[in-house]
Amino acid sequence: MALLVCKFGGSSVATLDRIKNIAARVQKLKHEYQDVVVVVSAMGDTTDDLLVMAQEIGNDLSCRELDMLLSTGEQQSAALLALTLNSIGIKAISLTGWQAGIKSDSAHSKAKISAIDNQRIRDEFKQGNVVVVAGFQGINCGGDITTLGRGGSDTTAVALAASLKADRCMIFTDVSGVYSADPRLVHEARKIERISYEEMLEMASLGAAVMQPRSVEFAMVYGVDVEVRSSFSEEPGTIITEDDGMEQQKVVQGIAHDRNCAKIAIFDVPDRPGIAKALFTSLAEHKINVDMVIQAAMRDEVNDIAFTIERNELNMALPVVEDLVKEIGASGMSYGDNVAKISVVGAGMKSNPGVAAAVFTALADASINIQMISTSEIKISCIIEESQVTEAVQALHNKFDLDK
Ligand code: ADP
Ligand code: ASP
Ligand code: MG
Repeated sequence: MALLVCKFGGSSVATLDRIKNIAARVQKLKHEYQDVVVVVSAMGDTTDDLLVMAQEIGNDLSCRELDMLLSTGEQQSAALLALTLNSIGIKAISLTGWQAGIKSDSAHSKAKISAIDNQRIRDEFKQGNVVVVAGFQGINCGGDITTLGRGGSDTTAVALAASLKADRCMIFTDVSGVYSADPRLVHEARKIERISYEEMLEMASLGAAVMQPRSVEFAMVYGVDVEVRSSFSEEPGTIITEDDGMEQQKVVQGIAHDRNCAKIAIFDVPDRPGIAKALFTSLAEHKINVDMVIQAAMRDEVNDIAFTIERNELNMALPVVEDLVKEIGASGMSYGDNVAKISVVGAGMKSNPGVAAAVFTALADASINIQMISTSEIKISCIIEESQVTEAVQALHNKFDLDK
C-alpha cells in the first residue's frame, strides 16, 4: 500500500513533449507505488510571463487578483498532465490546490499552509486515480485563492507528503540532486548524497534555489525524508533527512549564492537609543525584510548604519528610508543593487574553528572585497559586489576542496 508524493518543476513540464516524458515516468512509478500524487509547477517561465503581463497594467496591483492570475499556470500543467496520463491508459484526475484541500492564511503571494484536508485525494485513490495537484496554491478562510511564494510547489509536495504520511517524497527537477554549489555556476560541483534538514534549510534560505526554504522547514518539522532527483535521468539523487550523526560531518557542506540583494546605507545617524527601533519598525510595517545590518563605530555622536534587503523590495523601501532620514536627522543615504550574498554552509563548522579565517583568505586571495559579514553556528555569509559572484563561489569551493 505504498504511497508516493512526487513533484515536477517548471522546466520538467515546460513543453508537451516533456509532459509526455513525465507521464511515462509516472506510469513507471505507478507500478512501484499503489497510490501516487503528482504535484506540478507551471510550464517553463509561465509564472514570470504572467507577472510581466500583469505589470503592464500598472504597479499598484491587487495581490488577490495577482494570486488569481498566477495560480492558473499550475492549473494548466496539472490538467495537461492528467490528460496525457489518460491518453496512455492511466486513470488520473487533476485538482487545484483548494480542491486538494490545501488551506492557507491570507498573505497573498506568500501565503502559509495552515491545514490540509486530504479527504478528496484519498477518495480519488479509492477510484484508482493518480492525483495530479496544481502546486503553489491554496485557499484562505474567505474562499480566495492564495499563492505560496516563488518556488512554492516544493512546499505543496512536502506538505501533502506529511499530511498523507507518504512513504516517499520525491522532488524531480532539472539537476540530479543538491550539489556542493549551484552546478550551473561551478562545473566541478559535487552531488551530495545525504544532507541534514538543518544544512539544507540554510542552503535554501541563502539562495540555493533547488528547494523552497519553507518546504525544507515542513520536511524538518514533520520528519519527511525528501529525495531531490533528476526529471531527465534515473540516477539517484540527494536525500534530505535527519542528521543521524553517523556520518562524519563535513566542516563545509556547500556554498550558496543569492543575487536578490540590495544594500542601503544611512549616514550620520544620531547615536541615541530608539533610532534602530524606529528604522526597522518602519521597514517591518511596510513588510520589507531586512537581512544583514552593520553599524559603524561612533564618531562625534553619530554613526552610519547599512543593511541589506531583497532587491525586489528596494523600490518599496527607498521612500520609507528617505522619510526616516529626515525624521531622525541623519545627513543622507545611499543605495545599490549591484551586491550579492555568498555563504559557506556546514554543520561541522560548530566544532571546527578557523572556517571564517579560511573564507576571508580565499576571498582576499581572489581580490574580492567583503562589504558585510554575518555568521551563525553553521554558516558564514558575506556581501560582495555582484560581478564577482562566480569567482567568489569558485574560490570558496576550491578552498574547502568541495569537489572531492
Ligand atoms: P524547478 O523548476 O524544478 O523547481 P528550480 O529552478 O526552482 O527548479 O531549482 C533548480 C535549480 O536550482 C537548478 O537548475 C540549479 O541551477 C539551482 N541550484 C542552485 N543551487 C543549487 C545547488 N546547490 N544544488 C542544485 N541546484 C542548485
Ligand atoms: N510556478 C511558481 C514559480 O515559478 C511555483 C513553482 O514553480 O514552484 O515560482
Ligand atoms: Mg523550484
